[in-house]
Amino acid sequence: MESYVKYKAKREAKAVFKVNAAYTSQECANCGHTHSANRRSQSEFVCVSCHHADNAGKNAARVIAKRHLLMKRQKR
Ligand SMILES: [Zn+2]
Repeated sequence: MESYVKYKAKREAKAVFKVNAAYTSQECANCGHTHSANRRSQSEFVCVSCHHADNAGKNAARVIAKRHLLMKRQKR
């Protein structure tokens, strides 16, 4: 029974992760500003608000990691 709950929780976490990942390519990992203009190209990210510049993939990974931390905090 416990493993089933864990399995369901895992599946739900995955779904949430997918939804949350939708706009990560446009969101600044530094200030949270989200705009399509932030994404200069497939690999280049430059925030129009705070001018934070990073590799687009790296920036998205930081945004996702940050959201995971926030979700964990909210559950407590
Ligand atoms: Zn920014």
